[in-house]
Amino acid sequence: MTDDFTTEVYYDEDANRSFIDDKTVAVIGYGSQGHAHAQNLSESGVDVVVGLREGSSSRSAAHADGLDVETPAEAAARADIVSMLVPDTSQPAVFEAIRDELDAGDTLQFAHGFNIHYNQIQPPEDVDVTMVAPKSPGHLVRRNYENDQGTPGLIAVYQNVSDEAKEEALAYAHGIGCTRAGVIETTFREETETDLFGEQAVLCGGVTSLIKQGYETLVDAGYSPEMAYFEVLNEMKLIVDLMYEGGLGGMWDSVSDTAEYGGLTRGDRIVDEHARENMEEVLEEVQDGSFARQWIAENQANRPSYTQLRHAEENHDIERVGARLRDLFAWAEEEGESEDEEQA
Ligand code: NAD
Ligand code: MG
Ligand code: MG
Ligand code: MG
Ligand code: MG
Repeated sequence: MTDDFTTEVYYDEDANRSFIDDKTVAVIGYGSQGHAHAQNLSESGVDVVVGLREGSSSRSAAHADGLDVETPAEAAARADIVSMLVPDTSQPAVFEAIRDELDAGDTLQFAHGFNIHYNQIQPPEDVDVTMVAPKSPGHLVRRNYENDQGTPGLIAVYQNVSDEAKEEALAYAHGIGCTRAGVIETTFREETETDLFGEQAVLCGGVTSLIKQGYETLVDAGYSPEMAYFEVLNEMKLIVDLMYEGGLGGMWDSVSDTAEYGGLTRGDRIVDEHARENMEEVLEEVQDGSFARQWIAENQANRPSYTQLRHAEENHDIERVGARLRDLFAWAEEEGESEDEEQA
């Protein structure tokens, strides 16, 4: 931690559970985040009702986990806190179904700021609007809780009519296990814009493009696809694990001096000032709302280019080679990890 690190981190002792203990939480959706929030809160002693459409395939899972299930509207009617954990693209429609069930003083809560920040959901003025966003896929939020561990998270307050919105969000974060690890406060704008930029420029978009370009460069130069796959994709995890544990320095310390010298002299030539300019452009599209408009229009048109891009990605040579190699080597099973837990 550097001296100019001023963000306050909230832990268990900073959360006051009386702000949630007498309340009912409606968890709308039972996917990655929903199943984790609902079960963790319930085991923390909070009254939970899951909201799912009639006929939703998630209903049997929630029942099997011993939870009450109602329609989203019925669940919201019973609740003091409505936690919106359906996919971001479905939230505006689901909100229409629950809007009338939000009473004055209730809380509408999110795990990502997109729909509030880009005005796809306009909440009533007499409810609190908050965010509790674990910085992790839901399956880890659940697994960590079961292992008496925590998952770092964010809280944010967009609307605070009760004057207790932040305390309630912290109490919720406590209930799902986030304050065990640490929680920091942000805003809907900051969370939304940094999340979109991160996944586009670095985590999902940047990394996959780097991998594909590296793979194609090696294969086009005559090296075997299997070697190329191992070198630029499989080893990525090992390198990222080292950074996760010890930052960039932890990684540089662990690789050979040759790798360190080569990386330090060549890395900035690959991801150079043009990449930086492109990143700034991508950030501007996030900030000025043009990415959001494009994505919303894409969904309204039934995802024509998304479908095409997905198809092309699935058919990239590295995917075919990778599937065969992962079958042959089976390292994923050895570590006991499922596909679900690997999602970003
Ligand atoms: P998901 O896709 O895993 O969950 C889908 C759930 O919503 C399913 O139970 C499905 O039955 C239900 N659902 C879908 N459409 C519905 C509809 N029209 N009406 C009612 N229920 C419907 O979603 P997720 O990934 O858990 O995302 C939920 C929220 O959490 C999003 O705001 C997302 O940005 C945020 N978030 C996700 C992660 C993550 O790693 N998955 C991390 C942090 C925040
Ligand atoms: Mg209510
Ligand atoms: Mg409230
Ligand atoms: Mg995201
Ligand atoms: Mg090597």
